[in-house]
Amino acid sequence: MLHRRLGKTGLQVSALSFGAWVTFGNQIGDDVARELLHTAYEGGINFFDNAEGYADGQAEIVMGRILKASGWARGSYLVSSKVFFGDAYKGPNGRGLSRKHVIEACHAALVRLQVDHLDLFFCHRPDPDTPIGETCRAMHDLIAQGKVLYWGTSEWSAAEIAAAQRFCAAHNLHSPVMEQPQYNLFHRRRLEQEYAPLYDSDAGLGTTIWSPLATGLLTGKYNAGVPADSRLAVKGLEWLRDRVTADQKPKLDLVPAVAEIARELGTTLPRLGVAWCLANPRVSTVILGASKPAQLAENLGALEVLPKLTPEVLDRLDRLTRQAAT
Ligand code: NDP
Repeated sequence: MLHRRLGKTGLQVSALSFGAWVTFGNQIGDDVARELLHTAYEGGINFFDNAEGYADGQAEIVMGRILKASGWARGSYLVSSKVFFGDAYKGPNGRGLSRKHVIEACHAALVRLQVDHLDLFFCHRPDPDTPIGETCRAMHDLIAQGKVLYWGTSEWSAAEIAAAQRFCAAHNLHSPVMEQPQYNLFHRRRLEQEYAPLYDSDAGLGTTIWSPLATGLLTGKYNAGVPADSRLAVKGLEWLRDRVTADQKPKLDLVPAVAEIARELGTTLPRLGVAWCLANPRVSTVILGASKPAQLAENLGALEVLPKLTPEVLDRLDRLTRQAAT
């Protein structure tokens, strides 16, 4: 396994990591979740991604039980949670980035995950109803108390991240040091262009990128309809099915041509899709998703494809997808 520094921090994160969205506590049973987490860890993955909003907290409960039973040394892995989406049943203070919800969400995640600190804690979206300084102080306090080691953001604009970093620098607080944006062949502008000024700022910016296969679109599985055992067939994810099969039709239509390049390179489409993300040195770690151990085993092979991504191959992929990419 390759390791990368998380931005300018001293933290070494495996270049491939593993996340629980849609799958844990929802699409898959606990036995499959256990097999996936063990496959990931044995494959050299040291970072497991989670969030309070995944399966209404159930994804963290499932992951926590597996981590507890694993016997793995706590120092050998990193686990994250994210705060924002919360619990609709708790009323207006049960979500968002107020001091109240940030602190309570951290405490609840520690209980669900059965750990005494979160290695990474993300603000899952920006909160226009909370002053940025209030969130910065709450995150700083959690770090000072040892409950969180590093804090960051997910899908914040570059201006919002820069504002938080400025506030923290001015008030001598721990700054946000990582972002979790979507990044794949079809969704690239934010990480490549919008965040460009932030990577070399004083605080720096590590990136833990999500949906490297465009939520499965870059496996080719949706070019002939929606398979019954795929996430797009999961109840409650109709919005995602519509986005992938209708709104993203121009991207879907390009998938066979990307698959042809994978064939020429002697690899598979999912491995090429993941390796393409890793080819960008601004990516600290690519968070893999999988509902079946065979998918994860295949995607772990992406590291072998990395040396084949010569500037010529990258340029070909770029020219092919640039028009459709967001
Ligand atoms: P991907 O884009 O890689 O999609 C993963 C899905 O694609 C799998 O669950 C599986 O779906 C399918 N798949 C993966 N590999 C293969 C393969 N080799 N062959 C066939 N099908 C395959 O990643 P995710 O969208 O799952 O995102 C990864 C992680 O990123 C999440 O778990 C979460 O931790 C994080 N995330 C963060 C977000 C944020 O807002 N911060 C938002 C979304 C994700 P299927 O079950 O259909 O077969």
